[in-house]
Amino acid sequence: MNIFNKIKKAKLVGRGGACFSVAVKWEMVKKAAVDKKYVVCNSAEGEPGVKKDGYILEHFPERVVDGMKIAIDFLGAEKAYIYINKDYYKKYGKKLISLIGGAPIELFVKPIDSGYIGGEESSILNAIEGKKVEPRLRPPFPTTNGLFGCPTLVNNVETFHNVSLVASDEYENRRFYTISGDCLHDGVYSFPDSWTIQKILKETRNYPNFPFFVQIGGDASGEVLAVSQLKSQVSGAGSIAVYSIIKHKPTDLIKKWLDFFINESCGQCVPCREGVYRLVEITRSADPDWQLFGDLLDNLSETAFCGLGCAVPVPLKSYIKNVLAKMPENSINLPNGSKKIICECFKSA
Ligand code: SF4
Repeated sequence: MNIFNKIKKAKLVGRGGACFSVAVKWEMVKKAAVDKKYVVCNSAEGEPGVKKDGYILEHFPERVVDGMKIAIDFLGAEKAYIYINKDYYKKYGKKLISLIGGAPIELFVKPIDSGYIGGEESSILNAIEGKKVEPRLRPPFPTTNGLFGCPTLVNNVETFHNVSLVASDEYENRRFYTISGDCLHDGVYSFPDSWTIQKILKETRNYPNFPFFVQIGGDASGEVLAVSQLKSQVSGAGSIAVYSIIKHKPTDLIKKWLDFFINESCGQCVPCREGVYRLVEITRSADPDWQLFGDLLDNLSETAFCGLGCAVPVPLKSYIKNVLAKMPENSINLPNGSKKIICECFKSA
Protein backbone atom coordinates (compact mmCIF):
# COMPACT_ATOMS: atom_id res chain seq x y z
CA MET A 1 0.00 0.00 0.00
CA ASN A 2 1.41 3.44 -0.88
CA ILE A 3 1.82 6.14 1.75
CA PHE A 4 -1.24 8.11 0.64
CA ASN A 5 -3.54 5.11 1.03
CA LYS A 6 -1.95 4.30 4.38
CA ILE A 7 -2.59 7.86 5.63
CA LYS A 8 -6.16 7.66 4.36
CA LYS A 9 -6.72 4.30 6.04
CA ALA A 10 -5.23 5.56 9.32
CA LYS A 11 -7.57 8.60 9.14
CA LEU A 12 -4.71 10.89 10.16
CA VAL A 13 -5.70 14.43 11.08
CA GLY A 14 -3.45 17.45 11.44
CA ARG A 15 -2.20 17.96 14.99
CA GLY A 16 -1.60 21.71 14.78
CA GLY A 17 -5.04 22.29 16.26
CA ALA A 18 -7.43 22.34 13.30
CA CYS A 19 -7.64 18.50 13.04
CA PHE A 20 -8.03 18.76 9.24
CA SER A 21 -7.72 15.50 7.30
CA VAL A 22 -4.09 14.91 6.33
CA ALA A 23 -5.09 12.85 3.29
CA VAL A 24 -7.34 15.62 1.94
CA LYS A 25 -4.59 18.24 2.39
CA TRP A 26 -1.91 16.08 0.79
CA GLU A 27 -4.24 15.27 -2.12
CA MET A 28 -4.95 18.96 -2.77
CA VAL A 29 -1.24 19.73 -3.05
CA LYS A 30 -0.56 16.61 -5.09
CA LYS A 31 -3.33 17.41 -7.57
CA ALA A 32 -2.28 21.04 -8.11
CA ALA A 33 -1.12 21.21 -11.73
CA VAL A 34 2.14 23.06 -10.98
CA ASP A 35 5.61 21.54 -11.04
CA LYS A 36 7.13 23.54 -8.20
CA LYS A 37 5.80 22.59 -4.77
CA TYR A 38 6.92 23.11 -1.20
CA VAL A 39 6.60 21.42 2.17
CA VAL A 40 6.66 23.30 5.48
CA CYS A 41 6.84 21.82 8.96
CA ASN A 42 5.37 24.25 11.48
CA SER A 43 7.51 24.05 14.62
CA ALA A 44 6.58 27.49 15.96
CA GLU A 45 4.38 26.17 18.81
CA GLY A 46 3.38 29.53 20.30
CA GLU A 47 0.12 28.73 22.11
CA PRO A 48 0.60 29.06 25.89
CA GLY A 49 0.29 25.72 27.64
CA VAL A 50 1.12 23.61 24.57
CA LYS A 51 4.56 21.97 24.60
CA LYS A 52 4.12 18.68 22.79
CA ASP A 53 5.89 19.68 19.56
CA GLY A 54 9.00 20.61 21.57
CA TYR A 55 8.74 17.25 23.32
CA ILE A 56 8.56 15.44 19.96
CA LEU A 57 11.54 17.41 18.58
CA GLU A 58 13.51 16.42 21.66
CA HIS A 59 12.59 12.73 21.75
CA PHE A 60 11.62 11.79 18.17
CA PRO A 61 13.30 14.25 15.75
CA GLU A 62 14.12 11.40 13.34
CA ARG A 63 10.39 10.71 12.93
CA VAL A 64 9.69 14.35 12.08
CA VAL A 65 12.42 14.53 9.45
CA ASP A 66 11.40 11.13 8.07
CA GLY A 67 7.77 12.28 7.74
CA MET A 68 8.94 15.37 5.87
CA LYS A 69 11.10 13.33 3.51
CA ILE A 70 8.09 11.10 2.80
CA ALA A 71 5.98 14.18 1.99
CA ILE A 72 8.70 15.59 -0.29
CA ASP A 73 8.86 12.29 -2.20
CA PHE A 74 5.09 11.89 -2.46
CA LEU A 75 4.49 15.45 -3.69
CA GLY A 76 7.66 15.75 -5.77
CA ALA A 77 8.36 18.91 -3.78
CA GLU A 78 11.36 21.03 -4.69
CA LYS A 79 12.19 22.12 -1.17
CA ALA A 80 11.00 21.93 2.43
CA TYR A 81 11.38 24.18 5.45
CA ILE A 82 11.29 23.49 9.16
CA TYR A 83 9.86 26.75 10.48
CA ILE A 84 11.08 26.70 14.05
CA ASN A 85 10.95 29.04 17.04
CA LYS A 86 14.25 30.33 18.38
CA ASP A 87 14.12 28.33 21.59
CA TYR A 88 13.57 25.03 19.77
CA TYR A 89 16.23 25.96 17.22
CA LYS A 90 18.78 26.44 20.00
CA LYS A 91 17.83 23.14 21.64
CA TYR A 92 17.19 20.87 18.67
CA GLY A 93 18.62 22.65 15.59
CA LYS A 94 21.92 20.75 15.46
CA LYS A 95 20.26 17.37 15.77
CA LEU A 96 17.72 18.23 13.07
CA ILE A 97 20.45 19.41 10.68
CA SER A 98 22.36 16.16 11.14
CA LEU A 99 19.19 14.13 10.50
CA ILE A 100 18.36 16.15 7.38
CA GLY A 101 21.70 15.21 5.80
CA GLY A 102 21.54 15.90 2.06
CA ALA A 103 17.74 16.21 1.85
CA PRO A 104 16.37 19.52 0.47
CA ILE A 105 15.16 20.67 3.90
CA GLU A 106 16.18 24.00 5.43
CA LEU A 107 15.65 25.29 8.95
CA PHE A 108 14.01 28.73 9.05
CA VAL A 109 13.94 30.48 12.43
CA LYS A 110 10.67 32.24 13.24
CA PRO A 111 11.26 36.01 13.38
CA ILE A 112 11.67 36.97 17.05
CA ASP A 113 9.25 39.88 17.02
CA SER A 114 6.49 38.03 15.13
CA GLY A 115 4.69 36.85 18.30
CA TYR A 116 1.91 34.30 18.32
CA ILE A 117 0.69 35.24 14.86
CA GLY A 118 4.13 34.32 13.45
CA GLY A 119 3.07 30.68 13.86
CA GLU A 120 -0.13 31.03 11.83
CA GLU A 121 -0.03 29.00 8.62
CA SER A 122 -0.13 31.83 6.10
CA SER A 123 2.03 34.16 8.25
CA ILE A 124 4.71 31.47 8.07
CA LEU A 125 4.66 31.69 4.28
CA ASN A 126 5.06 35.49 4.45
CA ALA A 127 7.94 35.11 6.92
CA ILE A 128 9.82 32.65 4.70
CA GLU A 129 9.25 34.93 1.69
CA GLY A 130 10.72 37.84 3.67
CA LYS A 131 7.43 39.73 3.80
CA LYS A 132 5.65 41.33 6.75
CA VAL A 133 4.65 38.54 9.12
CA GLU A 134 0.87 38.69 9.11
CA PRO A 135 -1.91 36.34 7.97
CA ARG A 136 -2.96 36.22 4.32
CA LEU A 137 -6.56 36.47 3.21
CA ARG A 138 -7.93 33.02 2.36
CA PRO A 139 -8.91 31.70 -0.17
CA PRO A 140 -6.68 31.03 -1.98
CA PHE A 141 -5.29 28.44 0.43
CA PRO A 142 -1.63 27.44 0.75
CA THR A 143 -2.43 24.06 -0.83
CA THR A 144 -2.82 25.85 -4.17
CA ASN A 145 -1.16 29.25 -3.59
CA GLY A 146 1.42 28.88 -0.88
CA LEU A 147 5.12 29.70 -0.78
CA PHE A 148 6.10 31.98 -3.69
CA GLY A 149 2.65 31.34 -5.17
CA CYS A 150 3.25 27.58 -5.43
CA PRO A 151 1.21 24.72 -3.90
CA THR A 152 2.51 24.18 -0.38
CA LEU A 153 1.86 21.53 2.23
CA VAL A 154 1.97 22.95 5.75
CA ASN A 155 1.75 20.37 8.54
CA ASN A 156 2.98 20.57 12.10
CA VAL A 157 5.62 18.58 13.96
CA GLU A 158 3.28 15.95 15.40
CA THR A 159 1.62 15.40 12.04
CA PHE A 160 4.93 14.59 10.30
CA HIS A 161 5.87 12.40 13.27
CA ASN A 162 2.63 10.46 12.74
CA VAL A 163 3.18 10.21 8.97
CA SER A 164 6.49 8.48 9.69
CA LEU A 165 4.76 6.02 12.06
CA VAL A 166 2.07 5.29 9.48
CA ALA A 167 4.73 4.67 6.83
CA SER A 168 6.47 2.08 9.02
CA ASP A 169 3.15 0.52 10.12
CA GLU A 170 3.71 1.59 13.74
CA TYR A 171 0.92 4.16 14.11
CA GLU A 172 -1.45 3.22 16.94
CA ASN A 173 -4.00 6.09 17.02
CA ARG A 174 -2.20 7.83 19.83
CA ARG A 175 -1.57 11.52 20.33
CA PHE A 176 0.47 13.75 22.61
CA TYR A 177 -1.18 15.71 25.41
CA THR A 178 0.31 18.61 27.35
CA ILE A 179 -1.06 18.82 30.90
CA SER A 180 -0.47 22.01 32.86
CA GLY A 181 -1.91 24.35 35.46
CA ASP A 182 -3.03 23.47 38.98
CA CYS A 183 -1.84 19.88 38.98
CA LEU A 184 1.03 17.92 40.48
CA HIS A 185 2.22 15.95 37.49
CA ASP A 186 2.27 18.36 34.58
CA GLY A 187 4.11 17.43 31.40
CA VAL A 188 3.67 15.81 28.00
CA TYR A 189 2.06 12.36 27.77
CA SER A 190 1.13 10.00 24.94
CA PHE A 191 -2.23 8.19 25.10
CA PRO A 192 -4.79 6.82 22.64
CA ASP A 193 -6.66 9.65 20.94
CA SER A 194 -9.97 8.11 22.03
CA TRP A 195 -9.29 8.75 25.73
CA THR A 196 -11.48 11.24 27.54
CA ILE A 197 -10.19 14.27 29.45
CA GLN A 198 -11.33 12.62 32.68
CA LYS A 199 -9.43 9.42 31.93
CA ILE A 200 -6.24 11.29 31.03
CA LEU A 201 -6.33 13.37 34.22
CA LYS A 202 -6.91 10.25 36.33
CA GLU A 203 -4.28 8.17 34.56
CA THR A 204 -1.64 10.88 35.04
CA ARG A 205 -2.68 11.43 38.70
CA ASN A 206 -3.70 14.97 37.86
CA TYR A 207 -7.42 14.72 38.67
CA PRO A 208 -7.91 17.42 41.34
CA ASN A 209 -9.57 16.92 44.71
CA PHE A 210 -10.69 20.58 44.75
CA PRO A 211 -13.32 22.46 42.66
CA PHE A 212 -11.89 22.97 39.20
CA PHE A 213 -12.48 23.39 35.50
CA VAL A 214 -10.25 22.80 32.49
CA GLN A 215 -9.27 24.60 29.32
CA ILE A 216 -8.49 22.34 26.41
CA GLY A 217 -6.56 23.01 23.20
CA GLY A 218 -4.46 25.89 24.52
CA ASP A 219 -4.37 28.17 27.55
CA ALA A 220 -5.20 31.23 25.46
CA SER A 221 -7.63 30.21 22.75
CA GLY A 222 -8.92 26.87 24.06
CA GLU A 223 -12.43 25.97 25.17
CA VAL A 224 -13.28 25.96 28.88
CA LEU A 225 -15.14 22.95 30.23
CA ALA A 226 -16.74 22.20 33.59
CA VAL A 227 -16.15 18.94 35.50
CA SER A 228 -19.45 17.57 34.17
CA GLN A 229 -18.08 17.84 30.61
CA LEU A 230 -14.88 15.83 31.01
CA LYS A 231 -16.17 12.71 29.27
CA SER A 232 -15.30 14.21 25.91
CA GLN A 233 -12.04 13.83 23.99
CA VAL A 234 -9.40 16.55 23.83
CA SER A 235 -9.84 18.81 20.83
CA GLY A 236 -7.42 21.25 19.22
CA ALA A 237 -3.72 21.10 19.96
CA GLY A 238 -4.01 18.38 22.60
CA SER A 239 -3.56 20.30 25.82
CA ILE A 240 -5.41 20.21 29.13
CA ALA A 241 -4.93 23.09 31.58
CA VAL A 242 -6.37 22.58 35.06
CA TYR A 243 -7.71 25.65 36.92
CA SER A 244 -8.68 25.78 40.59
CA ILE A 245 -12.00 27.64 40.87
CA ILE A 246 -10.92 29.03 44.24
CA LYS A 247 -7.56 30.29 43.01
CA HIS A 248 -8.64 31.91 39.73
CA LYS A 249 -11.05 34.83 40.11
CA PRO A 250 -13.39 35.52 37.16
CA THR A 251 -12.07 39.06 36.64
CA ASP A 252 -8.46 37.79 36.59
CA LEU A 253 -9.29 35.10 34.05
CA ILE A 254 -11.17 37.44 31.71
CA LYS A 255 -8.26 39.89 31.96
CA LYS A 256 -5.71 37.13 31.30
CA TRP A 257 -7.43 36.01 28.10
CA LEU A 258 -8.07 39.52 26.82
CA ASP A 259 -4.49 40.59 27.62
CA PHE A 260 -3.21 37.73 25.50
CA PHE A 261 -5.35 38.67 22.51
CA ILE A 262 -4.70 42.41 22.69
CA ASN A 263 -0.95 41.78 22.92
CA GLU A 264 -0.90 39.25 20.09
CA SER A 265 -3.31 40.89 17.64
CA CYS A 266 -1.28 41.88 14.57
CA GLY A 267 -3.62 44.83 13.98
CA GLN A 268 -4.23 44.01 10.33
CA CYS A 269 -8.05 43.79 10.47
CA VAL A 270 -10.53 46.11 12.18
CA PRO A 271 -12.74 43.51 13.95
CA CYS A 272 -9.77 42.20 15.91
CA ARG A 273 -7.71 45.38 16.27
CA GLU A 274 -10.65 47.52 17.43
CA GLY A 275 -12.86 44.76 18.79
CA VAL A 276 -10.40 43.39 21.35
CA TYR A 277 -9.51 46.93 22.40
CA ARG A 278 -13.22 47.64 23.02
CA LEU A 279 -13.65 44.39 24.95
CA VAL A 280 -10.84 45.41 27.28
CA GLU A 281 -12.35 48.88 27.62
CA ILE A 282 -15.72 47.38 28.63
CA THR A 283 -14.19 45.18 31.32
CA ARG A 284 -12.41 48.22 32.80
CA SER A 285 -15.58 50.29 32.92
CA ALA A 286 -17.34 50.99 36.23
CA ASP A 287 -20.60 49.95 34.59
CA PRO A 288 -19.70 47.30 32.00
CA ASP A 289 -22.04 46.92 29.03
CA TRP A 290 -22.08 43.10 28.91
CA GLN A 291 -24.62 43.09 26.09
CA LEU A 292 -22.15 45.00 23.91
CA PHE A 293 -19.41 42.66 25.14
CA GLY A 294 -21.38 39.68 23.82
CA ASP A 295 -22.18 41.43 20.51
CA LEU A 296 -18.49 42.22 19.95
CA LEU A 297 -17.55 38.59 20.58
CA ASP A 298 -20.14 37.42 18.03
CA ASN A 299 -18.83 39.95 15.57
CA LEU A 300 -15.25 38.75 16.04
CA SER A 301 -16.05 35.11 15.40
CA GLU A 302 -17.81 36.04 12.16
CA THR A 303 -15.57 38.73 10.73
CA ALA A 304 -12.00 38.43 12.02
CA PHE A 305 -9.42 37.86 9.32
CA CYS A 306 -7.63 34.89 10.88
CA GLY A 307 -7.87 32.21 13.54
CA LEU A 308 -6.55 34.43 16.34
CA GLY A 309 -9.42 36.91 16.07
CA CYS A 310 -11.96 34.12 15.59
CA ALA A 311 -10.64 32.44 18.74
CA VAL A 312 -11.21 35.42 21.06
CA PRO A 313 -14.80 34.36 21.93
CA VAL A 314 -13.88 30.71 22.56
CA PRO A 315 -12.41 30.90 26.10
CA LEU A 316 -14.60 33.82 27.15
CA LYS A 317 -17.95 32.45 26.01
CA SER A 318 -17.26 28.89 27.15
CA TYR A 319 -16.00 30.05 30.57
CA ILE A 320 -19.06 32.25 31.10
CA LYS A 321 -21.47 29.56 29.93
CA ASN A 322 -19.87 26.44 31.43
CA VAL A 323 -18.32 27.73 34.65
CA LEU A 324 -19.32 31.25 35.67
CA ALA A 325 -23.05 30.66 35.15
CA LYS A 326 -22.90 27.74 37.59
CA MET A 327 -20.96 29.48 40.35
CA PRO A 328 -22.79 30.76 43.46
CA GLU A 329 -23.53 34.47 43.07
CA ASN A 330 -21.65 35.42 46.25
CA SER A 331 -18.44 33.78 45.02
CA ILE A 332 -18.18 35.99 41.95
CA ASN A 333 -16.28 39.24 42.15
CA LEU A 334 -17.50 40.85 38.94
CA PRO A 335 -18.70 44.43 39.41
CA ASN A 336 -22.26 45.57 39.93
CA GLY A 337 -23.95 42.19 40.28
CA SER A 338 -23.30 41.64 36.59
CA LYS A 339 -23.36 37.87 36.68
CA LYS A 340 -27.05 37.62 35.83
CA ILE A 341 -26.71 39.97 32.88
CA ILE A 342 -23.62 38.20 31.53
CA CYS A 343 -25.31 34.84 31.75
CA GLU A 344 -28.37 36.19 29.93
CA CYS A 345 -26.10 37.52 27.18
CA PHE A 346 -24.40 34.19 26.65
CA LYS A 347 -27.32 31.86 27.25
CA SER A 348 -27.05 30.51 23.73
CA ALA A 349 -23.25 30.71 23.49
S1 SF4 B 1 -7.73 38.60 13.37
FE1 SF4 B 1 -6.24 39.78 14.60
S2 SF4 B 1 -4.34 38.64 14.38
FE2 SF4 B 1 -5.71 37.96 12.72
S3 SF4 B 1 -5.28 39.27 10.97
FE3 SF4 B 1 -6.91 40.27 12.12
S4 SF4 B 1 -5.81 41.71 13.48
FE4 SF4 B 1 -4.31 40.21 12.79
